[in-house]
Amino acid sequence: MGGSRLVEKNALASNFQSFLLSLRGELASPGNNMKTIRLRDGKERSLIKRHPWVFEGSIASGRADPGETVRVESAAGEFLAWGAYSPTSSIRVRAWSFDAAERIDAAFFERRIARAVAVRARLPIESDAMRLIHGEADGLPGLVVDRYGDTLSAQFTATGVERWKPVIADALLKVTGLQRLYERSDASVREFEGLAPLTGWLRLPTGAPEHTEVTIHEHGWKLTVDVAHGHKTGYYLDQRDSRRLFAHSVRHFGAQRVLNCYSYTGGFSVAALAAGAAEVTSVDSSGPALERALAHVALNGFDAQRHSAIDADVNATLRGFVEQGRRFDAIVLDPPKFASTAGQAERAARAYKDINRLAFMLLEPGGLLFTFSCSGGVSADLFHKIVAGAGLDAGIDGQIHARTGAAPDHPMTITFPEGEYLKGLVIVKQR
Ligand code: SAH
Repeated sequence: MGGSRLVEKNALASNFQSFLLSLRGELASPGNNMKTIRLRDGKERSLIKRHPWVFEGSIASGRADPGETVRVESAAGEFLAWGAYSPTSSIRVRAWSFDAAERIDAAFFERRIARAVAVRARLPIESDAMRLIHGEADGLPGLVVDRYGDTLSAQFTATGVERWKPVIADALLKVTGLQRLYERSDASVREFEGLAPLTGWLRLPTGAPEHTEVTIHEHGWKLTVDVAHGHKTGYYLDQRDSRRLFAHSVRHFGAQRVLNCYSYTGGFSVAALAAGAAEVTSVDSSGPALERALAHVALNGFDAQRHSAIDADVNATLRGFVEQGRRFDAIVLDPPKFASTAGQAERAARAYKDINRLAFMLLEPGGLLFTFSCSGGVSADLFHKIVAGAGLDAGIDGQIHARTGAAPDHPMTITFPEGEYLKGLVIVKQR
């Protein structure tokens, strides 16, 4: 194939040269230059159902450079998808497009980004911070872009988007009209793709301010986000709607004593204070996150006496509170991911059950529990069962008042169930 010879001849060229070469190849007629990945017989089914991943074991023949655009075809040679090749990942190809006529070029990325941004413009988001690009769900596998006020924070976690990074960066600025773009490609999943961690300004006009701390406005609350040092791209935007629901619930239930477990920078704590809670306790094992939570209490004009921060392990803190006979009117449990895969679900289930059992014991009858799981490996169904088991062990009855998920700027495509990760239950303890 012409395309592979072209690249092999330049094997010693720098990354940038090979990037340019690949662009030249990809801009030319796809049929002439494109490498082909042929699937084993029967393995075409998931691509036909528009599931965007091709696993290593499905491939009969073909290979390409990291991130290079490939044509994926069935064992019979029929076109299935254009995708990005990843030589080291078990997800060997991530599909860009299922349309044979589509060209994967700069205009393609601009179209996809413009489409994603246009959808957000129609969503009822009460914030100047939102997710603009949510990976596979926006047709851009491996790319997450969050907007925090005037600043974009992006994470590249697959070879395809890594290879097209300069094109994607330019398109992001063009489509949003913003100028400051920070890169947070320090997620551990990059290892599977053979990519080293990368952080820093990807786009910053000369003379533009270099500060990485940005103030955002969520439901009328002021919060600060450090795109360089915060978790993920800076903040947990996916919980925006649950923070608003929590504020409403605290107000309507008249909850006075609120416990926010795994508080990070205190988003749920600010929500509770805004809703009139008398005493709010934030618990997290990250000192810098708690310092920011304290700053958020002051920034929003709340009396510091109404809030306390505990830098400790949540499980140990909950046990201590049970021993001390403490009681709360509302509790949030928003732990980090306990299971990435279904294989880790059993251990994760025990950990979820334990904290939920302790929280039920600490709640007053009539009190509210907002409990979440962001583990992709724990389904909504399994999470419900775990929480039910925790209630039984605690000897309480609970009513589910709502089920929650990630805010709509973190969508899922109907053909990609792996996209579901965050689920929550709003429970009222009855006895
Ligand atoms: N509810 C937060 C997001 C929570 S993210 C929000 O709305 O912004 C999960 C948090 O759990 C992180 O801040 C992390 O520092 C913290 N964490 C992880 N393990 C912990 C543990 N064992 N005990 C206490 N906090 C923990």
